[in-house]
Amino acid sequence: MSKIRKVAVAGGGIIGIATAYFLRRAGLDVVLFDQAKLGAGCSHGNCGYISPSHIFPLCTPKALKLGMKAMWQSNGPLRIRPGLNLSLWKWLFQFAGHCNQRDMLAIGHARHAILDSARELYQQIIEEHALDCNFQAKGCLFVYADEAAFVEQAVQIDLMRKEYGVEFSSLVGPELESFEPALIPGSAYGAYFYPQDAHVRPDRLINSWVRVLRELGVEIREDCRFEHFLAEGNTVRGLQTSQGVLDADTVVVAMGALTPFLNQQLGFQVPIQPGKGYSITMSCPAICPERPMIFEQDKVAVTPMQSAWRIGSTMELAGYNSTLNRSRLELLRRGATRYLREPFGPTVEEEWFGWRPMTPDGKAIIDFSPRYQNVMIAAGHNMLGLSMATATGKLVSELLTGSTPHIDPTPFQYPRKQRAARKQSRN
Ligand SMILES: Cc1cc2nc3c(=O)[nH]c(=O)nc-3n(C[C@H](O)[C@H](O)[C@H](O)COP(=O)(O)OP(=O)(O)OC[C@H]3O[C@@H](n4cnc5c(N)ncnc54)[C@H](O)[C@@H]3O)c2cc1C
Repeated sequence: MSKIRKVAVAGGGIIGIATAYFLRRAGLDVVLFDQAKLGAGCSHGNCGYISPSHIFPLCTPKALKLGMKAMWQSNGPLRIRPGLNLSLWKWLFQFAGHCNQRDMLAIGHARHAILDSARELYQQIIEEHALDCNFQAKGCLFVYADEAAFVEQAVQIDLMRKEYGVEFSSLVGPELESFEPALIPGSAYGAYFYPQDAHVRPDRLINSWVRVLRELGVEIREDCRFEHFLAEGNTVRGLQTSQGVLDADTVVVAMGALTPFLNQQLGFQVPIQPGKGYSITMSCPAICPERPMIFEQDKVAVTPMQSAWRIGSTMELAGYNSTLNRSRLELLRRGATRYLREPFGPTVEEEWFGWRPMTPDGKAIIDFSPRYQNVMIAAGHNMLGLSMATATGKLVSELLTGSTPHIDPTPFQYPRKQRAARKQSRN
């Protein structure tokens, strides 16, 4: 690629914001634009976990059975309704192909590298710019209601320790209750504690970080919709947007779960499906947990954010459905009620859903588009876009400026296997 002058970042979620930050820090002119307000997509109401502990993808050997069950359950935490949606069927088959131990471990290595780097970068960026985002480094508890589930999980956790060196501790019965007194005594058999995890309030992080971007000189455009590329051959010269032509010699597409709407323009079928999840944000209850907890058997996550209390999660694979389904919100309330002495705060601030950008193998796509040599895609961060954003932004900036990548970019290239095969045949 010739020398870059100006980069347009399409999509102002947490991935676009982190990307704009690192590109600007690398000395480039950057315009970051979004069809709505910055951070109003999936990055708005998520659970706020910055979680290096979330190494394994959804596609584990056990996931196939769970997935089949979810096709028939009417309102389980995981709900799958492919109907006549061919792209979702294709995605599900690809997902099934990854549900084996070998893929799970290899994917885990890629996720481990990006998650660890991102956690460290967050600490640096938040400190350097004094970002007002309720950042707390208090770890995360994975809580199990019964002994059988707790013991079954021990195998997986031991694997994480051996394969990736992840630190954790186990807490059982009274030990757990004194560690987290907000739990109802006897509601949980035990928990695994990951001390390296941290959390933020995502909307505050975004507001605060966007202020820094403005100060650094990033041009920001809201209510500006990407319409199409203006190209000559395999080189994009600019973009047509709802606010007119945007001049840029390099483009980063960071449109999260909406990235597949550019399939034809990007020249490939972006393998992303929307994975719908919900959250409820309230004022803090009087008996508020000290740290985030995931009630694993109910698939409900809770986050004490200093300025708010959030209950979130559930996963629905059913296309771009935009109704706020009250029975899904009720699942969250039920899950929290099962474990917490005071599950709800006095005032509900927001009931929300977001579309997670889900790929079949649980890895993001961070790569040049096959059609245009100056268009990069940074999307498909699954359930961990917040946790992976800083390292993604840094990697995009390194790939565009030709510096040595700080993590191996190969696992995030697309297509995956073909590239690996090509590389092997070259060696
Ligand atoms: C309930 C729930 C809980 C979650 N909890 C966590 C968590 O605790 N930790 C974690 O790491 N992750 C979590 N996630 C996942 C995380 O929220 C996502 O992975 C992340 O927000 C994806 O970021 P993104 O920037 O790729 O997408 P988005 O935030 O969706 O941003 C994409 C942006 O692109 C814009 N856009 C789309 N089309 C166009 C267009 N044509 N023109 C211009 N702009 C366009 C959209 O308006 C949007 O703002 C959770 C998700 C959910 C649903």
